[in-house]
Amino acid sequence: MKQNETSLNSQENKNLSDIDGIGDAHFSANINTALREDAFELDDETKVQLIQKHFKDIMQILGLDLTDDSLVGTPKRVAKMYVKEVFKGLNPKNKPHITLFENKYKYDEMVLVKDISFHSMCEHHFLPFFGKAHVAYIPKDKVVGLSKINRLVQFFAQRPQVQERLTIQIADDIREILKTEDVAVLIEAKHLCVAARGVADSQSLTITERFRGKFNCDDRKNQFLSAIKGRE
Ligand SMILES: [Zn+2]
Repeated sequence: MKQNETSLNSQENKNLSDIDGIGDAHFSANINTALREDAFELDDETKVQLIQKHFKDIMQILGLDLTDDSLVGTPKRVAKMYVKEVFKGLNPKNKPHITLFENKYKYDEMVLVKDISFHSMCEHHFLPFFGKAHVAYIPKDKVVGLSKINRLVQFFAQRPQVQERLTIQIADDIREILKTEDVAVLIEAKHLCVAARGVADSQSLTITERFRGKFNCDDRKNQFLSAIKGRE
């Protein structure tokens, strides 16, 4: 046991020094969210209780008086918010059910849902990033109810994220569900970890994009880009 603890600690220390080296660089090479295999062995209620306990510890370490009226409910509030709202999309069981419809009209032009507002959480700082997603596809045999695209964006946003990966996860999932190669996703977002700390730039906007299939050709790409122009 002692041995394990020691090796765990040295591993943690190693990771910590790695993080110091990485600094504020926002980068992740993995398309899948890094989840452990046992991620859902605990039920949501147990997770809320455990997070509540540990968040209380964090507040106490910071020197806050947890008997204060305004603070006493915070650990539970944060725990519920993490599990049931802002990180809800970690659990595949919360993925929206997508009903597909036959493409009766043989519609084969772009379908674009623009200005989908979303909130996500930067996985490097656990601070929000938020903005708009623009999602387009060219149907083959199936089409999808439009609000389902909004729901898919929300689902992938409700987890610790990096914007690049959010963009790819949305595009790849729509490609898989609708069995079409022709998908475009562009996301523009403000990151509180950039605005409220570090370089403290509250104006900059980060744009990420993924163009697949026909959207790789300039005409389609420009059609998509000009359709989302004029956005606020
Ligand atoms: Zn960040």
